[in-house]
Amino acid sequence: MMLIVAGLAILGLLLGPSLGIVVDRAVDRLRPAAEHRCVHCQHPQGPGSLIPVVGWFRTCQGCDRYTGWRYPAVDVTTAIVFGLLGVRFVDDGSIDWKLWPYLALGAVLVVLSVIDIETHLLPNVLVWPAIGVSLFLVFVVSGELGDGDAITAALLGGAIFGGFIGAAHLVHEQGMGRGDVKLALLLGLFVGWVETDLFVVTRLVLYALFLALLGGGLVGLAVNAIRRRGRAEIPFGPALAAGSLAIILVSPAIAGTGP
Ligand SMILES: [Zn+2]
Repeated sequence: MMLIVAGLAILGLLLGPSLGIVVDRAVDRLRPAAEHRCVHCQHPQGPGSLIPVVGWFRTCQGCDRYTGWRYPAVDVTTAIVFGLLGVRFVDDGSIDWKLWPYLALGAVLVVLSVIDIETHLLPNVLVWPAIGVSLFLVFVVSGELGDGDAITAALLGGAIFGGFIGAAHLVHEQGMGRGDVKLALLLGLFVGWVETDLFVVTRLVLYALFLALLGGGLVGLAVNAIRRRGRAEIPFGPALAAGSLAIILVSPAIAGTGP
């Protein structure tokens, strides 16, 4: 199993630069290109910048600065998320087929989180297709497998998570954007889809929500404590994503089906 987990982490590391290009496109409205750009001066960095680890230590040929935290952060986070999902969905060398959709979710969440931190936006062009694919997985794949319970569980998860954040958005529009509501819907579908018992699913979603509020709140307090003047607006998307991923990883323990 360790070999598969290590392989998945390396896969995440290698996929990182491509995800970085997606982030570039959303943050700086750059055309897609097969290379990174300097975040300071947008000078093209050449294909060498796409090599994980090596690319991190290259300085920009345009402005001589390091090309920023974004690319290493994306590469490393993707590697960690993929490795952890491997631990969750690989058991005694046999791979649960749900590993693959959850890897895709992990990659999407890394991209969305970095975009949200940089721009305070969760682009529709990424969120809607992700929701579409997740509904396809839930209805068509679980439907084909005759797994009606999984369909109900996923929809319940989406309804609870999306409902809570939707209500928060109505009450406090500044704090919780419309993008957060759509992200919560996506996350709820995936948190629900991981288990089938509806009582367990309800608990999983509430725990994910609690973790997100706690994490987002603590980061907000910390950032505003460091800042001297004015209040910083903290994007909530990364907290939602991290809380949900954490709950997906430990769901067997919460459901009582794990070790
Ligand atoms: Zn530069």
